[in-house]
Amino acid sequence: MSVTENLQEVEKRICAACERAGRDRSEVTLIAVSKTKPIEMIEEAYAAGIRVYGENKVQELVEKHDTMADDIDWHMIGHLQRNKVKMLPGRAKMIHSVDSLRLAEEIDRQYEKAGEIAHILIEVNMAGEESKFGLAPQDVASFLDEIAKFANIYVHGLMTIAPFVEDPEENRKIFTDLRKLLIDMRAKNNDNIDMSELSMGMTGDYEVAIEEGATFVRVGTGIFGARNYQKG
Ligand SMILES: *Cc1c(COP(=O)(O)O)cnc(C)c1O
Repeated sequence: MSVTENLQEVEKRICAACERAGRDRSEVTLIAVSKTKPIEMIEEAYAAGIRVYGENKVQELVEKHDTMADDIDWHMIGHLQRNKVKMLPGRAKMIHSVDSLRLAEEIDRQYEKAGEIAHILIEVNMAGEESKFGLAPQDVASFLDEIAKFANIYVHGLMTIAPFVEDPEENRKIFTDLRKLLIDMRAKNNDNIDMSELSMGMTGDYEVAIEEGATFVRVGTGIFGARNYQKG
């Protein structure tokens, strides 16, 4: 199937999931995860109307941002190293993967230099997988208190990468728990925090994530096909 056909299928499924959940389609933003994929494939998605893309490596986000049309929103969804943060002001619409104070500090510093506000999500490791990045759920509240001191950071919500599972139903509880955590964190009245966005759901489980309240779904394989990491 072509990228265009895949997008039609994904769009159909997003609409169906919204309908099941009694949600409006406009509440969910599809992030087309274009990591490792060439510009030509992104151009095809662009022609089909997609304006929001996700990358997990800074260098690749920079190259694609600087090559493609200006009306695209690029989301940084992958683990972020502090020495790469300086490339993101002016390029990344949102950083989904903030999970340490030292990283937040560097983001604040670099965005202040650039005279910009960084729009971020806090990454939470809901399943407690050792291989994954992200804060433990019980550490999010104190993290938000500490982050309140950064004048150049605005926190929009939470993100999680759920485990890879055969049956997406297995991840439903992770998604409901992330939503509950988001709602709990709304009690915080810090000026630079607005707990409204939930980035959760990938190719294998985005429909369940939408049913449980996702506002961003990050779909790669389902749009662009399997990734070939040997070729980079
Ligand atoms: C690669 C990636 C995705 C997309 O994964 P698919 O299973 O291909 O849809 C989503 N989120 C993050 C953080 C990723 O790194």
